[in-house]
Amino acid sequence: MTAAIATGETILVVGGGISGMTAALEAAECGRQVVLLERSPTLGGRTAMLYRYFPKLCHPTCGLEINLRRLKANRNLHVLTMAEVVGVAGRRGDYEVTVKIRPRYVNERCTGCGDCARAVTATVPNPHNYALDRIKAAYLPHAMAYPQRYVVDPSIVGTEDGEKAKAACKYGAIDLSMREETIELAAGAIVWATGWKPYDAAKIQPYGYGRFPNVVTSVEFERLADPHGPTGGRLLRPSDGKEAKNVAFIQCAGSRDENHLRHCSRICCMASLKQTQYLREAYGEDGRSTIYYIDIRAIDRFEDFHRKVQRDPTVHFIKSKVARIAEDGKTGNLILHGVDTEGYHRYEAEHDLVVLAIGMEPESNGIRLPADVVVDASGFIEGSADGGQQGAGAAASPYDVNRATQSATAAALRAIKVVHRAATVEGVSS
Ligand SMILES: Cc1cc2nc3c(=O)[nH]c(=O)nc-3n(C[C@H](O)[C@H](O)[C@H](O)COP(=O)(O)OP(=O)(O)OC[C@H]3O[C@@H](n4cnc5c(N)ncnc54)[C@H](O)[C@@H]3O)c2cc1C
Ligand code: SF4
Ligand code: SF4
Repeated sequence: MTAAIATGETILVVGGGISGMTAALEAAECGRQVVLLERSPTLGGRTAMLYRYFPKLCHPTCGLEINLRRLKANRNLHVLTMAEVVGVAGRRGDYEVTVKIRPRYVNERCTGCGDCARAVTATVPNPHNYALDRIKAAYLPHAMAYPQRYVVDPSIVGTEDGEKAKAACKYGAIDLSMREETIELAAGAIVWATGWKPYDAAKIQPYGYGRFPNVVTSVEFERLADPHGPTGGRLLRPSDGKEAKNVAFIQCAGSRDENHLRHCSRICCMASLKQTQYLREAYGEDGRSTIYYIDIRAIDRFEDFHRKVQRDPTVHFIKSKVARIAEDGKTGNLILHGVDTEGYHRYEAEHDLVVLAIGMEPESNGIRLPADVVVDASGFIEGSADGGQQGAGAAASPYDVNRATQSATAAALRAIKVVHRAATVEGVSS
């Protein structure tokens, strides 16, 4: 397998979100051999979990579809899902990478017919909806998943449900004997596009996430708004399923805070501005959004979107860092306490639902990177000093999709230079 798909001239891209896909495609379309390695069962990353994109409010599926078409048409690109790097040895131009591949229990004969899902009764928390609902233990990660292949959750392997799934499959696609595999890959350059994760909101004690059901995070709100989400796209409160029409957005939740993330997560002002428009779309003039902010960071081409939202009479802005949230035990409503720094008066404001504009933390904070990879003070990946490894997209900085893909394209170009040099100048002299 190693010899078939990878050589020292191969570029390894770790992480199959929009940045990893972009870096891999750019390099592969320049004629380079690329292996794209993704930890989850599907490509797409967190962008595929958004309802709409700012500033145009289009659906993320468009961008994903174009990339998948490019990917299917390219023979230089090899995708490995459910795969993680567990070790990197060597140096620029000559890496030996150890990769662990978890079993999917479903092989390439899968047609996506869904009979296995209908046959099983067990459910698991749905990762695509941030575990806000449950999904059958044999599932397709989401409608645009790539590969379009079901996954059998390990929890039902060796159970009656596992056998039911296998029996239901007319194509012999379910293989419950699959085991974890470890493979070695050769690569000349490595692009780390491992992306970001939402900061753990439960650590922001005064905001009551995890204690008050109607305090949710901005990533969860994306899923509530999405017709493929847990509420079928209706903005309903978790506590009682009531329509949430009076929603507070709390900015810098976990970001710009010495006790949590020191950095500005850069996109969460835009994310909240966008999410006010989900309310407008759902309820027209009957909805009410209030943004509690320190300052709104919407620069360059986002400024027009900010101005448009400012003109919306259903959206209100309060310049304040909310001090704490209390819950009205009878109604489940949330009472926000703080000081409006423009009028310097205290408020106690009541809302149906609170959305925490949660900070973006580098996903790589949870993984072991090779020792020579340098990260900044927040853990975002800068790369190795010799240039053989580098960060791309949200793994390198809290970027929006546009900037993440620009960063990925730059990373692809640098990786091409590394493997080109290894194959010519360095290869000749060594
Ligand atoms: C609430 C919210 C709303 C947003 N809305 C918008 C918007 O409207 N418009 C916009 O432009 N941006 C938006 N963003 C930002 C957008 O989500 C990011 O720009 C985008 O996800 C960056 O893509 P990425 O590929 O760099 O990272 P990710 O999307 O995080 O993808 C990283 C991929 O790497 C994989 N991975 C992680 N670790 C490993 C590992 N060790 N091994 C293998 N694979 C691994 C992950 O499974 C994932 O598939 C929003 C962000 C938030 C928080
Ligand atoms: S594993 Fe079999 S039953 Fe399940 S979706 Fe694929 S082809 Fe259909
Ligand atoms: S983008 Fe806005 S909400 Fe996010 S951390 Fe920066 S200032 Fe705060």
